[in-house]
Amino acid sequence: MQRGTAQRGFATHGHSARAVIRELLVHGPLPRAELARRLRLSPAALTRVTRELLDTAAIRPSSSAPSGTGGRPGTPLEVVLEEHEMVGLKVTGDEVYGVRTDALGQVRAGAKRHLDSTDVPAVTATIVELVKEVTGDAPVEGVGIGLAGAMARFDDRVRQSLYLGWDDVPLAAEVERACGVPTVISNDVRALTAGVHWSGPARGQDDFAVVTTGVGVGLGLVMEGRNIAGSSGKAGMIGHQRLGESGPLCSQGHRGCVEAYLTSAAITGAVAVAHSDPSMTLDRVCLLADAGDAAARRALGDAASALGVVIAGLVNTLDLPTVILAGDGLPAVMRAQPQLESSLTGHLDRNATLPDIKFLVSDFDEWARGAAVVACQWLLLEPPPSARSHGNRGRPQHGRNRDRPSQAAAVGA
Ligand SMILES: [Zn+2]
Repeated sequence: MQRGTAQRGFATHGHSARAVIRELLVHGPLPRAELARRLRLSPAALTRVTRELLDTAAIRPSSSAPSGTGGRPGTPLEVVLEEHEMVGLKVTGDEVYGVRTDALGQVRAGAKRHLDSTDVPAVTATIVELVKEVTGDAPVEGVGIGLAGAMARFDDRVRQSLYLGWDDVPLAAEVERACGVPTVISNDVRALTAGVHWSGPARGQDDFAVVTTGVGVGLGLVMEGRNIAGSSGKAGMIGHQRLGESGPLCSQGHRGCVEAYLTSAAITGAVAVAHSDPSMTLDRVCLLADAGDAAARRALGDAASALGVVIAGLVNTLDLPTVILAGDGLPAVMRAQPQLESSLTGHLDRNATLPDIKFLVSDFDEWARGAAVVACQWLLLEPPPSARSHGNRGRPQHGRNRDRPSQAAAVGA
């Protein structure tokens, strides 16, 4: 299905117009004067830009404005979210989750597929099938794929993905070629963080962290409105901080580090030993803890204490007002919330401000949703040539260079 002739994808607009769209997505409806102030545009320049965006149905007078006031300069403007759709995917070691979202990452359709193999051709074929299924007839503008690995913020390759055993795989070009939609690859925790930032519990906040627990311990970090990837895509390795001289070993051989207590394997391993039951699962640990089992409660308490140390370290270092906890291991660790709180307060600098801790319990659709937000951010901040010159459905394109620092403005992205 083609768009109407009056409508264009986000990426086809110029720099100032895309900046207006970003401001409205991140902050919600704003009047023209406020947009001009935030973007340092003259009233005349802003009028030119907003006229183009109104004419192409990228924005409209806010639906919350009284009827009949749409043309007045003071009327807030908003993005036409439902006319600009993205696809987001989260790839785990054995499943792929896909969603189609509006421009803010709000889910409109979803599906998932099991992976029988982690071979590149098999996983790529599954990803392409899923993109086509959730897209249906909708004219989506971009595809974002989140998976574990050392990817740049907007990457075209999968790099050092341990769960899949992949490195330097040009996945974006393959998916673009098969689906005809510009595609971007991102680290999965940073994608989750992008979704949390634009339309989740951190909406409107410029400084926060997302700490995930599950197979590993992950960190997504937004500072001054920018989602931090680090110089080589590896920012956020917080799982191996040493907690003491003794304790269990982590998967990398450290004794008594955070991951040695906090990962799902660490928790189930500790309870498996106590019960002489090697088939222990995290669900079973939760049932045992709920029934008062001492070993299960101790393992979850140790995990929660380790998480408290991680949060305290982040807040001491970065002065973060909000920390969001997420991941498939979180429901188990939440059972030991008192230990988490006492460990956090016990490790905070006495001059630090106690952060607001939020619990984001979700399935992997939330991670896929975040990848859709990454796709939208990419089209607005660093639109690829194919999306700029050919509207929504461009040829596969190359040349995104992970070593090239972004020249784009950091506003709310
Ligand atoms: Zn370790």
